[in-house]
Amino acid sequence: MSKGKVLLVLFKGGQHAIEQKKLLGCAENELGIRKFVEENGYELVTTTDKDGPDSLVEKEIEEAEIVITTPFFPAYITRERIEKAKNLKLCITAGVGSDHIDLNAANEKKLTVAEVTGSNVVSVAEHALMTILNLVRNYPSAHEIALKGEWDIAAAARDEYDIEGKVVGTVGAGRIGYRILERLVAFNPKKLYYFDYQELPQSAVDKINQASKLFNGVDNLLERVESLEDMVSKCDVVTINCPLHEKTKGLFDKKLISHMKDGAWLVNTARGAICNAEDVNEAVKSGKLLGYGGDVWYPQPPGPNHPWLDLTRPNGFSGNAMTQHISGCSLDSELRYSLGTKSILESYFTKKFDYRPQDLIVIDGDYATKAYGERNKK
Ligand code: NAP
Repeated sequence: MSKGKVLLVLFKGGQHAIEQKKLLGCAENELGIRKFVEENGYELVTTTDKDGPDSLVEKEIEEAEIVITTPFFPAYITRERIEKAKNLKLCITAGVGSDHIDLNAANEKKLTVAEVTGSNVVSVAEHALMTILNLVRNYPSAHEIALKGEWDIAAAARDEYDIEGKVVGTVGAGRIGYRILERLVAFNPKKLYYFDYQELPQSAVDKINQASKLFNGVDNLLERVESLEDMVSKCDVVTINCPLHEKTKGLFDKKLISHMKDGAWLVNTARGAICNAEDVNEAVKSGKLLGYGGDVWYPQPPGPNHPWLDLTRPNGFSGNAMTQHISGCSLDSELRYSLGTKSILESYFTKKFDYRPQDLIVIDGDYATKAYGERNKK
């Protein structure tokens, strides 16, 4: 007789799981936690069947004491699911970003929601930088042309630029946003801006400005901007790195995009629902934006009619630098968030509840973090 049930929802690995054992984040490899969970007297139920009233998640959540999900292939832990989960105590996000869980409902039921803070922030920063390069260098169009066996330099070069000399701004300058800013210094941009509720510590600003002075001879590269509209109106590239909460849902809509420079690029590796999908589509199709890219969608998987499957510019070439939600899913990240998940489970199984404070999202009926707390009140 087990002490309780752990429900683990992960993406399908298939043949890849057999060939690549480091692919810990898939259902077959189970974050490497099966033995550990069973040694602690719990039953582990792993599934990929997450959506709809007949799914295994819908059925198993009724008994589960712990639910482990990932943002990459999210089982949406809705209010309805939380209400029917009579044994549920702990929701773990194997990764960063717990917006797929109804956090207000979790609070009402006094659940603990924890994630593995920091586990994939380097990986996402690298992906965001790759996407910025991809769009600014016009890689989507150039790649498309090359694969057709054509040699039309003008067709690709007409929309191809350098990051050097451009203005880049981040919405959110936390763990990921700041790492993107750090990495951008190497490209000698004209100016870097950030918009965030939090002011960066002076030492963090100094670090970037001193590096810029040293490598590029540019003073005061990084500045904070008080108004989002103001920031986006100054930028050639805007990168989104804030959490999804009530105040960021649909933030990049027609109105905010209208404040952006004509021909700017927008990169979103935070959460799909921060952007209005139709408005972004319309902005690329009309030429307002030269391109959009990132790895996050809403919902996930997006389905066959999602507006971001087609982001074609008025000239007929692609302005689309989207991937699946993989930025925080590098094999290095998968190891980090698997170990982090195990550590959260250990705190729970041993009843020490000595979680890392930065991992806690909600606990004891309240928000443990301002990022979701203040921001999630409607
Ligand atoms: P973080 O260290 O908490 O930084 C987020 C920053 O954004 C915080 O300073 C936060 O301020 C700020 N913020 C919140 N709302 C804002 C708004 N409306 N405008 C401007 N700034 C705002 O988080 P992180 O580790 O950098 O991660 C950021 C987000 O990236 C996560 O929430 C997640 O959604 C996403 N992410 C995606 C992937 C992926 O695989 N694509 C992986 C990891 C994370 P406050 O703390 O004051 O609210």
